[in-house]
Amino acid sequence: MSTQKQGFNTRAVHAGERQLGGQGFQPVTTPIYPSVGYTYGSSDGLEAVLANEEAGHVYSARYSNPTTAVFETAIAELEGGQAAYAFASGMAAMHVALLAAGVKAGTHVVCAADVYGATYSLLQNLFTELGATVHFVDVLDELAVDTAVSTHHPVALIAETISNPLLKVANLPRLADIAHAHGALFLVDNTFCTPYLCAPLAFGADMVIHSATKFIAGHGDVMAGVVVTTAVHRARLLELNKLVGSSLGPFEAWLALRGLKTLPLRMRQQCANATAVAEWLTTQPGITQVNYPMLPDHPQHELVQRLTHGRGAGGVLSFELANAGRAEVFRFMERLQLIQSATTLGDIYSLVLYPAMSSHRSLTAEERASIGISDGLVRLSVGIEDVGDIIADLAQALGTL
Ligand code: PLP
Repeated sequence: MSTQKQGFNTRAVHAGERQLGGQGFQPVTTPIYPSVGYTYGSSDGLEAVLANEEAGHVYSARYSNPTTAVFETAIAELEGGQAAYAFASGMAAMHVALLAAGVKAGTHVVCAADVYGATYSLLQNLFTELGATVHFVDVLDELAVDTAVSTHHPVALIAETISNPLLKVANLPRLADIAHAHGALFLVDNTFCTPYLCAPLAFGADMVIHSATKFIAGHGDVMAGVVVTTAVHRARLLELNKLVGSSLGPFEAWLALRGLKTLPLRMRQQCANATAVAEWLTTQPGITQVNYPMLPDHPQHELVQRLTHGRGAGGVLSFELANAGRAEVFRFMERLQLIQSATTLGDIYSLVLYPAMSSHRSLTAEERASIGISDGLVRLSVGIEDVGDIIADLAQALGTL
């Protein structure tokens, strides 16, 4: 039976598995291969693998590793891509994806303005210092995107499927059309959605980037990143990583692969919990704004339903505390007992973060204000706990219990 015909839950459990072995038995679960080097019995054998004439592994540190390769196969299968290459973190994946897309001195890039803070700073600071020109646009303003892309002919257009932390939803098919009409590659950070909710390659993306540290691994205990793309782009990512050396280690790959198996279960619970929490927050007097695309009055509510086939909008939402600045937000976060105040998202645990202090700290106050990240904005990543307990914790911290 072709795995393509199987459902997402089945593929999440089995994709990539049982391809290693060959000693008369087959481990059900992919083993961890910690070996750095691989021998082939003859120099010709090793040469054939190095020359890409035979499949195999030669050097785990910067080339490939059997356990990591299984994780890559699994995520490529779930995203519907030809191939994937895994990295030590989401930012490493984004960095090498940008290099593979051709970003260098003299080139232009157009990027959604409200992307994750480190992605923003990578472009605005590092790549700009290296000679690239970066144009940030509101991806909801398609005319502005079209104008930026047709004027500057960037090598890449970059967006997040659902943005961090304002929860704006990118119109992927439309953005892909704009990018391709002017010769740009369309790079999509799909961290907030994961392939369970949305597969951007099917909507025209050329590369899909994940911080697998988040929902994919899912348990707050592993750092990982991955790019899913064509075989041709994957070959370029590999060549670049041989120089950059930001590979995902086999232990982390094994944990990420294990996390992938329960991704649909966790995402279903997190989507349901986040929807209930968002609805409850909209009824609270101390909250002025709730950003969550499943709320019926969210400006891209219909779009998110289309992109995620009605499965939900993920586990992250953000909201504004009324008349609040840093001191009031800190007080609110310190009152929380169940919900942990930590700089990450997508875990089984509910987590709260203050973007002005953490995820978007590297932006100036003016940059944050221009994007719409206010000093009263709080980001909440809703975990898999009982939703009543999450709401009770928010209520006591808001003083409304
Ligand atoms: N993309 C998004 C949307 C993120 O939220 C993050 C981290 O929070 C990253 C990329 C970077 O991932 P990592 O922290 O694994 O480098």
